[in-house]
Amino acid sequence: MAQIKSYWQNYIDGRWVDGASGARFPIEDPATGRQIAEIARAGKADVDAAVQSARRAVASRALYDMKPDKRCQLLNAMGREIRALGDEIVPVMTADNGKNLDFSRDEVEGTARYFEYYAGMADKMHGRSIPLGDGYLDYTQLVPYGVSAQVVPWNFPLELAARSLAPALAGANAVVIKSPEISPLGICFLAIAAERAGLPKGYLNIVCGNGEEAGEALTSHPGIDQIVFTGSVATGQRIMHKAADRVVPCVMEMGGKSAGIVYPDADLETTAKSAAIAILAHAGQVCSAGSRLIVHRSIHDELVERITAVAKSFTMGPGVENHFLTPVISRNQLDKIERYCQSGIQAGARAVIGGRRVDRPGHFMAPTIFTGVTTDMLINREEIFGPVLSVLSFDQPEEALAIANGTDYGLAAGVYTRDLGRAHWTADRLEAGSVFVNQWFAGGNEVPFGGFKRSGFGREKGVEALGNYVQTRNVAVRL
Ligand code: NAD
Repeated sequence: MAQIKSYWQNYIDGRWVDGASGARFPIEDPATGRQIAEIARAGKADVDAAVQSARRAVASRALYDMKPDKRCQLLNAMGREIRALGDEIVPVMTADNGKNLDFSRDEVEGTARYFEYYAGMADKMHGRSIPLGDGYLDYTQLVPYGVSAQVVPWNFPLELAARSLAPALAGANAVVIKSPEISPLGICFLAIAAERAGLPKGYLNIVCGNGEEAGEALTSHPGIDQIVFTGSVATGQRIMHKAADRVVPCVMEMGGKSAGIVYPDADLETTAKSAAIAILAHAGQVCSAGSRLIVHRSIHDELVERITAVAKSFTMGPGVENHFLTPVISRNQLDKIERYCQSGIQAGARAVIGGRRVDRPGHFMAPTIFTGVTTDMLINREEIFGPVLSVLSFDQPEEALAIANGTDYGLAAGVYTRDLGRAHWTADRLEAGSVFVNQWFAGGNEVPFGGFKRSGFGREKGVEALGNYVQTRNVAVRL
């Protein structure tokens, strides 16, 4: 494995710095369970310094006053620099996150694309003129909120950080990223790319700290103007309380329990492959993972057999060897996933494969497929965030919809059918922010993403995301 730098720092006001307390977090490789590096641990004082730095950047108006074509060039340059750093980033992310080399490469590419995508819009964000009759001039402006506080989870840390950072910068905001305490290393490369691209000092600050310490300090800081949170519902609720106290707008990107509905006319070969990838990619640690499959009774057994065969065809091992089945992030996560599996078995579900951890170093969970799942079971209702698929069956389409829509979540959903009319009928009734037809995870940086119900509100990605980072000012003039 490539040698990883042994100590990483926070990035505040254009400088790499230790935590004020001198404390550090150990960083572990999930494939071995061994420590590979340390990172400076940010506390309240560090968060305060980061917010002050961002406030000074906003006050300087450097990005706001910049000619739009220059802001485009700056964001494009950030994308270029991230791509140029790819060979350094990939082994680091595979080591601290567990994902395989292909997924780490995809994450670098997705990150670069966010900067390029929003670079293409930085010169197309403008207000309008509204006719008010003789003697008046009226126009609107799109004004940055100011300091955007961005709390990032560990599953796709680099790409999710870029997903919010790029449109925030396109809108001329300054950003403080609270990186996750596990798997924070990839995000550090954003600062390297920003420096090389010439982003003015203070517009990007990165602090790595605990949720209860640095996360709370940031989201309750009086110097922030907007919050983007990506993570679990429980944490999102805490943050929304803090935001309510200060009336700070939020974008909430939270969890999911996404279901695919399989009609009897679906192409079973492609459906089996898509359904297996939907839950086994990155060990199921994907917010929009296809963690439930609702299958027409007439094809249930055959499809389960096919998905099982696909799952068995994947090899398991460390991400650095580019296996498809890679470890989950931590021992805690592995314990939690296994507890969910136990609850399913006790409630009467049958593990066709898996159901327990794999006896080897690191945090490997066996790919798991449960049949005989009923709607009341925890494995149907709660987000497991592991490679565990719950299969349910249906007879009538309305029944399938009721099962799919029957959880608190509404992040993603899917439909497998050859009948386009049926696909649209179903998509129109699914309570989810994203609907995949015949291929789970279809989409890209260009399409809006976010949740219905308790999966959140606001949309990231696509043109829609820009609205999160600017507010409208109307100027009415009596001539
Ligand atoms: P988490 O909620 O435990 O942590 C997310 C982030 O919040 C971390 O940086 C953490 O340090 C921080 N945090 C924790 N407590 C905090 C507090 N009190 N105040 C402020 N910040 C705090 O989630 P996780 O386990 O890191 O991530 C997994 C979850 O994220 C899953 O539910 C997954 O579905 C969700 N997720 C959603 C999306 C999306 O786009 N909707 C994308 C990826 C992950």
